[in-house]
Amino acid sequence: MHMAEETVFGKIVSGEIPVEKLIETERVIAFHDIAPQAPVHILVIPKTTAYANVTELAAADPGLLAEIVDVAQQLAREHADGDFRLVFNNGANAGQTVFHVHAHLLAGGLTEGSL
Ligand code: 5GP
Repeated sequence: MHMAEETVFGKIVSGEIPVEKLIETERVIAFHDIAPQAPVHILVIPKTTAYANVTELAAADPGLLAEIVDVAQQLAREHADGDFRLVFNNGANAGQTVFHVHAHLLAGGLTEGSL
């Protein structure tokens, strides 16, 4: 298994960059996106730096991917009405800029949005 290069999210996991942790479990943390694209825009990430994108995560540890979805559901209930959109950008040409797998949890007033 290759280790992802150090990313800004690796520094958030290690504490080098401080964030308000909205949820922390043994394997996952969640925090507000610095540039929100929706009324609720939270990033849910695994603590491990082993996976650059959701494809790698799903292949290697589907249980950890399921935990990310479960944490997203909890956050959508706490911060919105429980409904949510979960986005994984997979690859630079899909808009991925941080190569430490992360889910964008978008919620709150999304009915006007695309997709
Ligand atoms: P991507 O484009 O890789 O799917 O998403 C990366 C996300 O990370 C972007 O939405 C960006 O706003 C967010 N982001 C980048 N750097 C930081 C940071 O230092 N703190 C927080 N909270 N979010 C960040």
